Amino acid sequence: MEKPILYRVSGRKDILMRYRGEFAKEGYSLTENTYTVRFEKPVYKAYTAEDRFIRKFRKKKCKVEKIPLRYTRNTTYRRAYFKAHPSPDGKYRCVYCGGRFPKKDITIDHLIPVNAAERSWVARDRIKRLGYSSVNDMDNLVPACRYCNSRKGTHMGLWLMRGRLGRKPWFWKVVKVGRFAMMVFVMFMIFYAFDLYI
Ligand SMILES: [Zn+2]
Repeated sequence: MEKPILYRVSGRKDILMRYRGEFAKEGYSLTENTYTVRFEKPVYKAYTAEDRFIRKFRKKKCKVEKIPLRYTRNTTYRRAYFKAHPSPDGKYRCVYCGGRFPKKDITIDHLIPVNAAERSWVARDRIKRLGYSSVNDMDNLVPACRYCNSRKGTHMGLWLMRGRLGRKPWFWKVVKVGRFAMMVFVMFMIFYAFDLYI
């Protein structure tokens, strides 16, 4: 039976790097940042290495976490999003700033970030309660421009609300009307003040 699980190992970088080649040969991939090095492998491909893998790293005082695949990024979500949401003019509206951008400048953002889903049970619980099948569920995906996406990073909270509102077309109509009303109001006040002077 398929057991869709990924491992993330974190620990001392020099220890992890030592095993890099060995595990790459077995199909593990490695992503690196400042604090952790991580090996990933869908274990349904080979069970044999599983125990050896865990044992080896635990012995070296590394932290080994099992992450169900549905809480990790898949490789098809971007394509899937564009396929499910074709745009007649090839442009997409960023849900965070409302700007319209050509497809090549649009990133597909996970409302509940993959990073949070991998690490925290709070995020996983949220995914479950919202009825999403995975972190790559279409309902968890929104278009965002590069600038907003990088600003959002791994934030949730208010960003989640902004994303949910921003994907409703009526929201940007309300914003537009609101901006216009504000402009009229300011102009009226300027004229009014001017009128008082003369
Ligand atoms: Zn934006």
